[in-house]
Amino acid sequence: MILPIYAFGQSVLRKKSEHISPDYENLNTLIENMFETMYESNGIGLAAPQIGLPIRLFIVDGSEIEDIHPPAFKEVFINPTILDEFGEEWDFEEGCLSIPDIRENVRRKGDVTIHYFDANWNEHTRTFGGMAARIIQHEYDHIEGILFTDRISPLKRSMLKRKLDYISKGITKAQYKMKFPPRK
Ligand code: ZN
Repeated sequence: MILPIYAFGQSVLRKKSEHISPDYENLNTLIENMFETMYESNGIGLAAPQIGLPIRLFIVDGSEIEDIHPPAFKEVFINPTILDEFGEEWDFEEGCLSIPDIRENVRRKGDVTIHYFDANWNEHTRTFGGMAARIIQHEYDHIEGILFTDRISPLKRSMLKRKLDYISKGITKAQYKMKFPPRK
């Protein structure tokens, strides 16, 4: 089932998400729906707050961009904790399904070590680099209530203010279903 993507301005995108337990109701269906939703909107990562749930869960599938940013990489992250970020910082133009039509360079460290459970509740501590690290860092930010637009310069952010306001009012050309903040 395709779920609507919560748009910039939705308060759930600003919450610090909660851990879940293995008996979380319908978790497998939720994960399936998240993949379906992500593929429908041509995303390479999706975090639970983006579909309205403030829980520590995100999915990643970088196989679409494998040609330019190998290796292919698909994983489910449940209750993740970033243990370390290291390596050379680099800029990459990030986008976000919750913030359509905006892309900006974000500087992040090159490598990330993360502890998490996969969809079968197997426990992992793994280190990722390159594009895998980049997507993980972006999605991990989501479960901490952080958006990539928080990580650009104040000047750039002020230049984007009007565009961001439009998105939060439901004015966007996004080609996928979105859920906008309630009107005040
Ligand atoms: Zn995002």
